[in-house]
Order: sequence, then C-alpha cells, then structure tokens
Amino acid sequence: EESERKIRALLEHGGDAILLVDDAGVVTFASGACPQILGADAEELIHTSFHELAQTLGVARLSDVIESSRRSPGELLTETMPLGEDDVTIVEVNVCDYSRVETVEATIVNIRDITERLLTQAALEREESFSTDLMEHAPLWIYVSDLELRFLRVNRLFALAMGYKADVMVGSTASELFPAGLADLLETNARRALVDGEVTTEQTFEIGGVQTSMLGTYFVLRDSAGSPYAVAAVAIDMTEVEELRTIERELRAGFTHATDAMVTSYEGRITSWNRSAEEMFGYTSDEILGREIGVLLAPSQRDRVPSFQSALYEGRAVTAERLIGQRRDGSTFVGSLTAVPIVDGSGVVRAVSSVIHDRTAELTLQAQLRTDSLTGLPNREALIEHLQSILNSTGQDNEAPSEMFYLAKMRVDRFDQFLSVFGGSTAEALLRVVTDRLTAFVRRGVFVARSGPRDFAFAFTAESRQDAESFVQEVLSAVTEPTEVENRALNVSMTVGVSPCQSDDVGVIMSRAALLSQRERSVGAEPIAFFDERREFQLVRDVTLIEELRSALADHQLVPYYQPIVDLATNQVVGFEALARWPHEVRGLVTPDRFVGLAEESGLIGELGRQIRFSACHQLVEWQKLSGRSGLEMHLNVSVHELADSDFVTVTARMLERTGVDPRAVVFEITESALANTKETSEKLRDVSALGVRWSIDDFGTGYSSLSYLRVFPLDSLKIDRTFVMDWQSAKGRSMLKSIIDMAGALGLRTISEGIETPDQRDLMVELGADRGQGYFWLRPAPADEAYGFLRAGLERP
Ligand code: C2E
Ligand code: CA
Ligand code: CA
Repeated sequence: EESERKIRALLEHGGDAILLVDDAGVVTFASGACPQILGADAEELIHTSFHELAQTLGVARLSDVIESSRRSPGELLTETMPLGEDDVTIVEVNVCDYSRVETVEATIVNIRDITERLLTQAALEREESFSTDLMEHAPLWIYVSDLELRFLRVNRLFALAMGYKADVMVGSTASELFPAGLADLLETNARRALVDGEVTTEQTFEIGGVQTSMLGTYFVLRDSAGSPYAVAAVAIDMTEVEELRTIERELRAGFTHATDAMVTSYEGRITSWNRSAEEMFGYTSDEILGREIGVLLAPSQRDRVPSFQSALYEGRAVTAERLIGQRRDGSTFVGSLTAVPIVDGSGVVRAVSSVIHDRTAELTLQAQLRTDSLTGLPNREALIEHLQSILNSTGQDNEAPSEMFYLAKMRVDRFDQFLSVFGGSTAEALLRVVTDRLTAFVRRGVFVARSGPRDFAFAFTAESRQDAESFVQEVLSAVTEPTEVENRALNVSMTVGVSPCQSDDVGVIMSRAALLSQRERSVGAEPIAFFDERREFQLVRDVTLIEELRSALADHQLVPYYQPIVDLATNQVVGFEALARWPHEVRGLVTPDRFVGLAEESGLIGELGRQIRFSACHQLVEWQKLSGRSGLEMHLNVSVHELADSDFVTVTARMLERTGVDPRAVVFEITESALANTKETSEKLRDVSALGVRWSIDDFGTGYSSLSYLRVFPLDSLKIDRTFVMDWQSAKGRSMLKSIIDMAGALGLRTISEGIETPDQRDLMVELGADRGQGYFWLRPAPADEAYGFLRAGLERP
C-alpha cells in the first residue's frame, strides 16, 4: 500500500506525462503532468481511445509506437518526435507493453518534454564551435592543459610561435617541448593559477632569438561540481602591440597632419582622404569618398590611371614626378605621386595608398633661379631646360606628331644705339613693354623667355608650317606695335629667327634660331626667317666664305697683325701677340671672329695657324735683330683643333728650325678648354716645352676655373680674360682679378692682363700686381711696321 501510494504520488507529481492504455486501446490512467505536456487533463483523457488522442495531438507516430510495442511485449521502445502543430515541442516517448502482465495489464506510455534539453545542447554545440573559431582566429596565444600540465588544446598561433604543429603538441608538456627557460615560465604561471585561481602577468622571453614580451592570463577551468580539471592560458604579444601602436600613432599623425595629401583607394575609387588632401584638392571627405581617383588629375592626365592601376594591382609601387593635379574648382597644379599597393597575407591587393606632394612651391623656387630679374621672364637656362623637356617628350612617341614644336628668337634691332641715345632706364622700360606684350601669349600655351640682353624667345606648337608662320607674324605685330615709353613715342623693330625643334640637340636649335635673329637686316627687309630655307642660304654663305678662305690661304693672303705686350712695372714693350687678319678685296679687313670658327669647322685652321705663326716668328727674328733686343717675345695663338693634330709637335719643331727663332722667345697661347683632355694634352704640351717653347693660358677665368690642372701642365703664364678687366669697377670684379693674380703668383705663373683700354685700368692692374698688360690703351692690333714703330717710340723715349 505504501509503495502504491508512492507510485501514485510520483505519477501525480512527476514531470512526465504517463498514460496507461488497456488492451482495447483506451486510456485508463493519465498522470498529473498531462495537461502541461499534452494540453488535456486526466478527466478528458480517461476513457478516450489512444488512437483518437494521437489524432487530436496531430502525432500519428504515437499510434504506430503503441502498435509496435504490442508486437514486442515487455520491450522498451524509445522515440523522439515533435508534438503539436507548430513542432516547437519535442518529446521523447517511452512505451512498454505490460498488457500480458498481471496486476498491470496495460501499455505504459511515458511522454517527456525534451525541448529545453535539446535547445541547451544545440546552444552548447554552437558555443563550442564558436569558441573554437575564436581560439583559432584570435591574434592571441591560447592553450589549455590538464592538471599535469599536458597540453589538451593549443591554438594555431601558439603552435606557430613555438614552431610545432598543434596536434603534435597535444599530450606533451611544455618542458618536453620547449627550452627550459620558457617551459619553466609557462609551467610556473600555470601552477600559480592552480593555487590562486587566476594569474595575469607580463613577461619577456626569447623565442627563436627574438625578445618577445607577452601579456598572459592563466586561469583554472572547473567542472560543474567546482573541481578544477584544466588550466587555460591566453596571451598576447606586446612587442607587436607596441609596434602596432607606434605605427598607428605615426600613421595617424602623418595622415592628419602631413602637408602631403594621403589618399587610399580600392579598385580606383577613393576610400580615405586626409585633411591635407582636403586642402590640396578642395573636396571634403564626404564629397570625394567613393569617387574615381581620376577626378584628382587634370583631364589630360587621366589616361595614365589605367597603367598605374595595372602596376599597382600587380603589386608594384608607382611613382610619377610630374603629374598635373586638378582641384575641385578646376585649377591645376604640378605634383608628384607615390602610390603603393597594400597587400594582405595571401598576397591580394586590398587597397592602394597614395601620397601626393604639391610641387608648386619647389617649382616656384626653381623658377626664381631661372628667372630674368629685369623682366621676370624665364631666362636662358630655363629656356634650354624647357626645350630639353620638349625634346625628351617628343622623342618618346613613335607616332608622327600632329603638332610640331618651334623655337622663335627675337632680337631688338639696333638696341645698342637705342641704349646710347635714350639711356638705360628707357631701354629697360622698352624691354618691359616687349615683355608684357609677349606674356599675353603665355595663356595660349606659349613658353616665353628672355634669352639674352636684347633677345627674347618663345616656344610654341603649330600644326603646319603655315600656322607657325602666321603665329610668329601675329606675335611680332603685337610686340612691335608703336608704344610710348617715358613720354616718348617709340617704334620697336625686331628680327626673328625660327627653328623647328626636331634635332636632338638643344644647342643646335638655339643657335639656328639665334643665327637667324642676329642676321644683318636692312630696314624694311623681311623680319621673320625660318630655319629651313634661310639656313641653307647661311650654309651657302659659309661655304662660300670657306672656299674664299681656302684660296686666300693658298695665296698666303692672311697676315698677322701685332699687338704689343707691355711690362707693367717698367712700361716697356716686352713682346707682341700675333693676331690673324684677312685683307679681303670686297669685305675689307676681315677679323678672326668671322673666319676662325669656320676655319676650325672646315679643317683649315691648321694651315692658317702655321702661316700666321711662321710669319710672326720670322718677323720676331727680324725685330730682335733690328732692335737689338734678343729678349723680345712673340705670343702665338694655337687652336684646340690644331693641338689634336698628330703632326703638331713636328710641325712646330720644323717652324722653329726654319725661321731660326729662339724657342725661348716664343709663347703659345691656348684656351682653358684645350686642357679638358688632360693626359694626351699634357703630353703634347710637354713635347712642345721640350723644344723650348712656353705655354700661356688664354682667356683665363672663362673656362673651368679648377686649379688642379694648372699644376698638371707645363705653363708659363696666364692671360686674364678681357671680361674681368671690363668689370674692374665693381668690388666683385676687383676681387676676382686679385684672386687670379694672387693664385697665379702662388703657382709661379706670370700674369698678362688683356683688354686694358684706360689709364685707370692700367693703374689698377699695376696695383693688383699683374706682370704684364695688353690692350687698346697702348695699341690696337696693328700691321707689322706700325707695331714696330710703337716699339721704337718706346725705345727712343728716355
Ligand atoms: P684673343 O687671343 O683673346 O686675342 C685678343 C683679342 O682681343 C683680339 O681680337 C684683340 O684685337 C682684342 N683686343 C686686344 N686688346 C683689346 C682691348 O683693349 N679692348 C678690346 N675690346 N679688345 C681688345 P681679335 O684680333 O679679333 O682676335 C679674336 C680672337 O681670334 C683671338 O682672341 C684669338 O682667339 C683668335 N685668333 C686670332 N688670331 C688667331 C690665329 O692666328 N690663330 C688662332 N687659332 N686664333 C686666332
Ligand atoms: Ca690670344
Ligand atoms: Ca684672350
């Protein structure tokens, strides 16, 4: 009775719905939990057919389970099934057929709600896979060891850092796997955690030779009863964190404060934008993010983007020194670009980081150094640079360009006369007027420069020769329009030379245009000349002159003129310089500036030099005899081109022999540029010195003023270039003169000052300590008898 009471209590108050079903399939008992699980109380259930009940519950499977259990009495059948229409309740059904058993005579059906249990299980599983994911992907070392400190689980990063595979580590202890120091550290921490429950510590140790600082937490894992079963450790590499922090700080600082624009982009669209970018381009982040990177470039530059992109997405960095950027307001500037791809661990480009540097300030500064101070226009150097960049860029394209570059040089006609009539300030005002008028063309893409004291130049493009001509005509008309300067009506006239920029040599282009702009032009003659036709004319003229020179040399028509060289201390003529002159039937007396260059070009210079030197030496011998002054010297010019001739030394020796001149009275003058080819030249100079002839450097100070070569060559004296004497009134000019003279003195070289025209200049040179002088002050280069007359006059003076 007692046990029956207990069973009943259990049936009334247990959590499971329990039903007894008799042989006829009718419910004879229903437990207290039935309303909760099946939604019906005992009264409703008792006497109903179980099949009916199964149908009401919508669980046909229930009837099947009863049927099956009837077929195997005494056996417990268990099945899980959803209950109710919405399937949210899952039940476990246990059925056992006791209908043949006396005292029971029923099938017992026990229905247990297991929904909660299943949900918890699923949640646990999810949690498990979540924590596994977390463990594997966190940038942390994570591991769990059992109480004997054998690894139970280790994450990938920890295994990687230790140099093992994770599954190899499982089952071993730290001391079995790692160096003693490290193992000790880890195990001590774990043991402390076992005592204290949790330990957090930052420690530095060496892994694979690298000092690593780790911040780690060790904690005990306990089962539901609260007893410890494992120790877990989570650690983070602080070295890296510190590095990352520093990098982040720097990046942040750089990104927000740099004056360079920093822009990141992905697949050509802007993804970030710093403050400098905002200032440089005028777009706010909101306006620009997501837009194509090309909008930052001037339209002409945008077709460069695809090639940049393809390089970047192949993982290469891109730099461009001259990109034309475009601001929001459409204005443009020159900038440089450095772009690098940002690549993730698997080598995929995730973004492109670009730094854009505004070069305006730098270019302005550069421009200032290349600016003519009077007019503010680019100077000659800037012009050369500009032409060079044109030539470089046109050289790259293989396609025939539709547009052609031209250089035009303009020379103000009779500017020297203008200067002497109106004076410097009017002349300057005139140059400014010309400048203003020329500058108006800059807007149309024309490069305008001041290429010389009375010369302007402009470079432009034209599609045809005809276009070029009419453009130059247009510029010339604009520039030469009558003007008023300082209340004076002025008519400017100019001569223009134009050369196409085809040649690969800027010098050639410049000189072609210059040649044409400097040609002698009678008033009213065509002011504009293009290179191609006129150059031919020029060539013909040159060729004619060369032919005339050739026959003049054959006839020994060229003669030396002589200019005395004077000892500044005694005012005595100590020698002469022989200077070539060409008495021409038509042209009159032609000076060397007209023919020496042509003679060098055509190879006639050797013959010319030999004739002049021969006559001069012959003359010297005669003058020495006549005057009784055997010390009288003769200075003779030698061209660089002659020195290159292999015969030079023998020809010189022969000349000395034939004229019978004392070699010690002969001085050869050579320009600094001849000394550029050091080794060969110094040998030649030595061979000539061995004959007794001395060497002097002509036009000293205009070439490379390097002292080193002065020691290498066997030199006797320096001839200080005329331009230094011309500049004698300025402090800078004087100090130049002084330092040249002092330096020559230190090297044991005599100094001869050229181009002395006035008594003041002579006095200055005396004061500065120059040894000798030469110039119009004493005598212009003169025919032999006149020069000798000058010598005699000096000799006859008391
Ligand atoms: P250079 O050797 O420097 O000759 C000096 C030039 O300065 C001469 O010009 C002379 O007339 C000029 N001169 C002299 N004193 C004064 C002065 O006080 N004021 C000014 N303004 N000029 C002065 P030149 O005779 O026209 O000769 C020009 C150049 O031609 C020479 O410069 C020399 O380099 C070259 N040359 C002359 N004759 C020969 C020669 O026979 N052979 C070679 N290879 N070159 C020669
Ligand atoms: Ca000379
Ligand atoms: Ca000279």
